[in-house]
Amino acid sequence: MYGRVRRVAPLPSGGAPGWTISAMTRDVLDEAVVERVTRTMALRKVAFAEDIARAVVVLDSDVPRLSAGARPHLHAYGNPHYWLDPENARAITARILEALAAARPEDRAVFETNRARFLARLDAGLARWRERLAPFAGARLVAVHDTWPYFVRRFGLVIAGAVEERPGVPPSPAHLGRLIERMRAAGVRVIVAEPGASPAIVRRLADATGARVVTLAPSVGAEPAATDYLALFDVNVERLARALGGEAANPAGAPRPQ
Ligand SMILES: [Zn+2]
Repeated sequence: MYGRVRRVAPLPSGGAPGWTISAMTRDVLDEAVVERVTRTMALRKVAFAEDIARAVVVLDSDVPRLSAGARPHLHAYGNPHYWLDPENARAITARILEALAAARPEDRAVFETNRARFLARLDAGLARWRERLAPFAGARLVAVHDTWPYFVRRFGLVIAGAVEERPGVPPSPAHLGRLIERMRAAGVRVIVAEPGASPAIVRRLADATGARVVTLAPSVGAEPAATDYLALFDVNVERLARALGGEAANPAGAPRPQ
């Protein structure tokens, strides 16, 4: 049942990474060829996160995990949320570029120009996001799902615990009790939820610890404001900075309905 697997990341269940990757693909593609190229086998191939994941460093890949398939979205082969480090967009879009250029060699220059433009916008975003989160370096967060290790590593934050004891598996009351103790001891002031998180569990945790709840978008399209890859970080960074700064980013104290 348990096994050790290194540096292999499958496509997580659900469409989230596919959406994120297709949002990047739109940036690399010229608008005029989007419709034609999205129907090619090459693009379907690049949409497999397994291929993309070989281009990035997958976190937690040496941690023994439950076997895949027992429940939806276990992190069976390492943490699959690698697109949440914006630096990984360089490697991901490089893979997308190669797949698109293989499908349409005559358009390689267009794809390269578009990717360069995307990376310039990414660099501007990175400067903006780092500056916004810099005052909160070292801040400890508790996340509902283990979605954010790539994100916090990039921006100097710390995940002090997860509501889900194992990714994709609802927490036991005993685990929640331990988590509440740990949050109090560590002074965790912010709980990171995402659309679809159990409002009752998040509410209970917030009530027990006084921590604020902020709902972040884990992927492009996870909620309407996360319209593309760069907007995903603009939205998440701003919400998180407000929550860490003591503003009630989510006054209801519970995840917003999807
Ligand atoms: Zn996950």
